[in-house]
Amino acid sequence: LNRRLTEFGTTIFAEMSALALRTGSINLGQGFPDTDGPEEVREAAVRALREGRGNQYPPGSGVPELRIAVAAHQRRRYGLSYDPDTEVLVTAGATEAIAAALLALVEPGDEVVALEPYYDSYAACVAMAGGTRVPVTLRPHLDGGAAFRLDLDELRAAVTDRTRLLLINTPHNPTGTVLTRAELTAIAELAVERDLLVVTDEVYEHLVFDDAEHLPLAAFPGMRERTVTIGSAGKTFSFTGWKVGWVTGAPDLVAAVRSAKQYLTYVASGPFQYAVAEALALPDSYFEAFRANMMAKRDLLATGLADAGFEVFRTVGTYFITTDIRSLGESDGFAFCRALPERAGVVAIPNAVFYDHREEGAPFVRFAFCKRTEVLTDATERLRKAFA
Ligand code: PMP
Ligand code: GLN
Repeated sequence: LNRRLTEFGTTIFAEMSALALRTGSINLGQGFPDTDGPEEVREAAVRALREGRGNQYPPGSGVPELRIAVAAHQRRRYGLSYDPDTEVLVTAGATEAIAAALLALVEPGDEVVALEPYYDSYAACVAMAGGTRVPVTLRPHLDGGAAFRLDLDELRAAVTDRTRLLLINTPHNPTGTVLTRAELTAIAELAVERDLLVVTDEVYEHLVFDDAEHLPLAAFPGMRERTVTIGSAGKTFSFTGWKVGWVTGAPDLVAAVRSAKQYLTYVASGPFQYAVAEALALPDSYFEAFRANMMAKRDLLATGLADAGFEVFRTVGTYFITTDIRSLGESDGFAFCRALPERAGVVAIPNAVFYDHREEGAPFVRFAFCKRTEVLTDATERLRKAFA
C-alpha cells in the first residue's frame, strides 16, 4: 500500500457492519435503508434489463435520459439550468463523483478546506490526489436545540494562498446539520473573493426536516461557474446498491471530472441509470412522503436515545443522529461503539473516525434512523435497558 493510503485502513462502515453481523446486533451504523425504494422504479430497472437498455457500456457521460432527468430536477427544485450534454455527468454513486472531482481538480500540494467531521472518503480522496486536507471543525452550539455549526472566522482563516478548493457537505453527515443561508452566503463570498473551486456534496438534499431548507451552493452569486455539485440516487431513492450518482457544473469543470472518471470506472450501472431517470421524474408527492416518513423515524430515534440517557443533537438533515455519550458517563466513542453490541445489541459509529482532530470527535457517536419503525423501537428499547 502506498504511503498516501496507509493511514486509512478499512472503512469504519465495513468494520461496523461486520461487527453487527457477527454479534447479531441491530445495525444503526452504516447508513443504508432497510426498505428498498419505490416498486415502480425497481420495475423500471427490470424493464431496462429485459429490453436490453444499458446491458452494454452506456455512454461515458451517462445515458441521455438520465442526464436530461438530472438537469430537469435541478431546474424544477432549484431553478438551476444545466445543459444535459455538457454540464451533467453520471457517476458510480456519489463516491466516484467525490473521487473523480478531487483527482481532477486538485494538484499535488494543493490545500483542500473541508468541514470536519467529514465523510470518510473525503480524506482518502484528497490524499490520493496528493492534496493536503485542512479541516474546519463544526462545533456544538446550544442555540435552537443543540446543533453543530460552522465558525465562519475559522473558515476564512483556513484559506491560504495554497488553497485550491472548498469541499462542502450539506445536509451534513454525520452531524445532521443543514447549512443556513447566512453560512452558505459567507462560503460563496469567500470562494469568489479567493477564487476557489467548490465541490459540494448534496446527496441528502431531499432529507431536510422542520424549518430547515436545502439551498444548493451553486445557486449563490458567483458560484455556478466554480461549483461542482454531487447528488445520489442511493440516498434520494433508497437504492444504495445501485451506485448511481451524478455531478452538475460548468462545462469545463464537468469535463475535468469526466477526464478522471473515465479511468476510474469509465461507466457503471447501465440499466439502473434508466430507472433512476424515471425516479427523478416522480411527482413532488414522492419526495414529500419520503421526507415525512424519514422525519417520523428521526423523532422516534431521537426520543428513544434521549430516554436512554444520551445527549441528542438536533438533526434537521440526513438520516443520522449524533449523540454525546458524556451524559452516560462515557468519553471514548471508539471504546463505546466496540462495546455496544455486547452491552446493548446495537451497532453505532464513533464520530471520531470523521475527524483529524480525533479528540474533538471523541465523545460523539452516530446512529442511523433509515430503518423500519419496529427496528428502531427494538433498538431504542435495548438501549434503554442497557443505559437508562
Ligand atoms: N457523501 C455522503 C455525505 C454520504 O453520506 C455518502 C453515503 N454514505 C456518500 C457521499 C456516498 O454516496 P453513494 O452511495 O452514492 O456513493
Ligand atoms: N454513506 C454511508 C454512511 O455514512 C455509508 C457509505 C459506505 O458504506 N461507504 O454511513
